[in-house]
Amino acid sequence: MPDEYVASIFDIDLKGLKKRGIEGLIIDIDNTLVSWETKTADRRVLEWFAKLERMGFRACLLSNNTKDRVVKFTETIRIPAVYRAAKPRKSAFIRAMAAIGKNPSNVAVIGDQVFTDILGGKRLGLYAVLVIPLSGREFFTTRFVRRIEKMLLDRMVREGKLVRPAVSHRKNLTG
Ligand SMILES: [Mg+2]
Repeated sequence: MPDEYVASIFDIDLKGLKKRGIEGLIIDIDNTLVSWETKTADRRVLEWFAKLERMGFRACLLSNNTKDRVVKFTETIRIPAVYRAAKPRKSAFIRAMAAIGKNPSNVAVIGDQVFTDILGGKRLGLYAVLVIPLSGREFFTTRFVRRIEKMLLDRMVREGKLVRPAVSHRKNLTG
């Protein structure tokens, strides 16, 4: 279960994370930062990363996608990245934390999938922020998992354990 559920990365309360003692961020790429088929970060995403840096956060990208995809993406955002992470396995999260010199007590994970990003982070006790996925186009297997994820999130919202965010306007901006 995520600690926070927000519409998009731009809706994350970064000052709030700071207050919680969060210094490092492990961030998913696909459908969290950009849509699945987008190869590089757009201007708004780059500005968001510049803001993270100004605020003193260390960030590492963590993706289950291929080396090619992740390396191409980091041509625009020059931060550490772990590819073929096999989230929710712990090992890649541990590598990502090592890359930014942080530990579970001061790291948050940000991602769009409950059963990879959030579960993987929670297995190590990380603070976890779930965002609404950017694009409806996904791997076949992901589409299947989304149905289970939806049931789970619907139940948590129904039981008052999670607040569903208002839908972001971002889709209208980035297509
Ligand atoms: Mg994702």
